[in-house]
Amino acid sequence: MNLPKTPQQWAIHLTKLLNAFTAAHGLQRFPINIVDIAHEFSKHAFPDAPITAFEGIKTSNNFEGALFRHPERKNEWGIFYNENIQSSGRKNFTLAHEFGHYLLHRAAFPDGLQCSSRSMLDWDEERGEIEGQANTFASFFLMPLDDFRAQIKGHKPSMDLMCHLADRYAVSLSAATLKWLDVCGKRAMIVFGRDGYIDWAWSSKELLLSGIFYRSRSGPTTELPKLSLAARQDPLVDNRSGILHPKGIWPGQEEVHEMTILGKRGEMTVSLLLYPDDPPSRFAQIDDEDGGLMDTYEKFVRGGQVP
Ligand SMILES: [Zn+2]
Repeated sequence: MNLPKTPQQWAIHLTKLLNAFTAAHGLQRFPINIVDIAHEFSKHAFPDAPITAFEGIKTSNNFEGALFRHPERKNEWGIFYNENIQSSGRKNFTLAHEFGHYLLHRAAFPDGLQCSSRSMLDWDEERGEIEGQANTFASFFLMPLDDFRAQIKGHKPSMDLMCHLADRYAVSLSAATLKWLDVCGKRAMIVFGRDGYIDWAWSSKELLLSGIFYRSRSGPTTELPKLSLAARQDPLVDNRSGILHPKGIWPGQEEVHEMTILGKRGEMTVSLLLYPDDPPSRFAQIDDEDGGLMDTYEKFVRGGQVP
């Protein structure tokens, strides 16, 4: 059998198997139960290297997940996750990420791999390439493109839609929104705020082409815009439906529709920013004086929008 080589190929391979299996047995297709599938698939496809353990570990917040070889039964593998992670969606994504490492990287890392919470967002660290590959696998496997496109077709972008996607695929709101940004064809950005600062941000490629994005490592030095919903945290505003800001509140000289979800204790915010479909000008000016913006040229030189 010719085994897949890339993260996307692995995701498509397993998606086809699952489509056939769930249809034949009349089973619900989503969300995907990573533990069952990783266990069954590894047992049948790689009987000399099955995944036999899935265990939570009570440990520091920075530990997200790991793929380890069994200390005694050297042919067996285990997937571990941080038991302190409350979000089931985040845990599910982590399990899929580690399964991705198993499929793609266990030969190169015979003792296994340990991943931090930042690994789930990393694309350019020394190990960034493999972290990016594991994330790509997790995203494509948990949220297959055909189904994802069918879910969003004809729906206006909204926080309700993002929450529906997160529920359907049992992933975090951020994972669902990042996927949406990837396929939406819209000029949009997601911004995570923490304690009044921008913790992390990601622009769709359509918005990147206008040169509008935050340096992803700019936080926590870049403040949320003072007049943004995320910074104001006004309980009297319908933050989830959001408002249309005038030009100049968010980056770019354009009106921006901001929809925000405030964390339970107020310190965390997630904002979805929608820009007009058409940019104001092909060569729009880029403001690099504050806010950690940089121009499109520098972006391409750096080779990526880097968390
Ligand atoms: Zn990893």
